[in-house]
Amino acid sequence: MPSVSREQLARWDRQLVWHPFTQMAEYEPLILEQGDGCTLIDIHGNRYIDGTSSLWCNVHGHRHPRLDAALRQQLDRVAHVTALGCSNPTTIRLARRLVDLAPPGLQHVFFSDDGATAVEVALKLAFQYWRQCERPRPEKTRYLALSEAYHGDTIGSVSVGGVARFHAMFKPLLFATDRLPAPDPYRPPPGVSEGEVLSDAVGRLESVLAEHHQRIAAMVIEPLVQAAAGMIVHPPGYLRAVRELTRKYDVLLIADEVAVGMGRTGKMFACEQEQVSPDFLCLAKGLTGGYMPMAATLTTDRIWQAFLGTYAESKAFFHGHTYGGNPLGAAVALATLDVFDEEQTLATMQPKIARLAEHLERIAGLAHIGHVRQCGLLAGIELVRREATKEPYPWEEKRGIRVCDHARKEGVLLRPLGNVVVIIPPLAISLDQLDRIAAAVENGIRRAVA
Ligand SMILES: *Cc1c(COP(=O)(O)O)cnc(C)c1O
Repeated sequence: MPSVSREQLARWDRQLVWHPFTQMAEYEPLILEQGDGCTLIDIHGNRYIDGTSSLWCNVHGHRHPRLDAALRQQLDRVAHVTALGCSNPTTIRLARRLVDLAPPGLQHVFFSDDGATAVEVALKLAFQYWRQCERPRPEKTRYLALSEAYHGDTIGSVSVGGVARFHAMFKPLLFATDRLPAPDPYRPPPGVSEGEVLSDAVGRLESVLAEHHQRIAAMVIEPLVQAAAGMIVHPPGYLRAVRELTRKYDVLLIADEVAVGMGRTGKMFACEQEQVSPDFLCLAKGLTGGYMPMAATLTTDRIWQAFLGTYAESKAFFHGHTYGGNPLGAAVALATLDVFDEEQTLATMQPKIARLAEHLERIAGLAHIGHVRQCGLLAGIELVRREATKEPYPWEEKRGIRVCDHARKEGVLLRPLGNVVVIIPPLAISLDQLDRIAAAVENGIRRAVA
């Protein structure tokens, strides 16, 4: 490495590395070389607060001694063995821990490697379940999802997704999905007031289920917050109602907690906020503290039982990923859960959640702020051209990007979602660092809307 100059690295980065969700013709390299707690350091020695948790996955900070040690210890045993027909102690122990922690009823764990695959697995399990459960319902082949949903970028997870700007291109490749409007208190459906968003959404859900439940295998939802949609925070009670109605109409519920799980909302799992037990719980991002690609799809004994039989019956789940259940990932996931206990992460988050709320209240008073929303240590600040009409800025004007470009100059790394400035720091962020993030955002907004 020493023989490669920083300029050479930047050139190669621009020419060779195809970055996701990035216009490579305009890409300006930012090459991060080291982490230190909630700070990242680039190859020039510049330090940045990691205001996006390295895209929503870091939990306890970078280079946490406990997590580093867990990885090293696992390396002294074995880096990888397949989960196809065999196992290893670390992965088994992680399954035990997850089942113990998860909402009641989730008793089995299918491991894969990313959020998209965690959802894909749940979709396929739900489909196959209805074909081979005790009283098969093979006509249940469709999925119900919310508009603006984001469940990952594989074809199956895009099919249940609904972010037009990402997904419209691939429409000819996708399977048809039944769709409900996202219950968005800031942008309710026409004729619905903010206070009526919950009852309106629950009413629509009930009528779709009443009419179509015979053909719907499962409903897939991001519990509490539709993150990639721009941090749309659902009205309290919606998730609970979704669980009650899907149960009433015998539609399976897939909770995609890839973004909101692992403590983000202030509880280990977002479903706990409304005492909900889904039929499938999808975890990824923070599962390994942001260290290793690993995902888990938890499910119930009802689903599991439908896949049991003799080899000749071919009821097994014919789906797998080479690195599913990887022991290095499992080791660092176990250590991530240990650190939650040792550092009392969920309790020590509370003052940070309150501090973030104070900052948001102040920022909400700035010009061109349409809406601020927060759930735990996750926030979205929506910039609009006109507050009164909620008229959005045209996305080509890059207002959100301009805010984040400015924040970077103040040493804070952020990534917007269109006109929504997103703050998702590691749960280990300090109050002081949170103040610096908020100041950088505030200064960035003043400039970007001037
Ligand atoms: C990020 C995300 C995914 C996709 O996870 P990947 O690991 O990027 O595949 C799925 N669902 C939600 C809610 C997400 O935020």
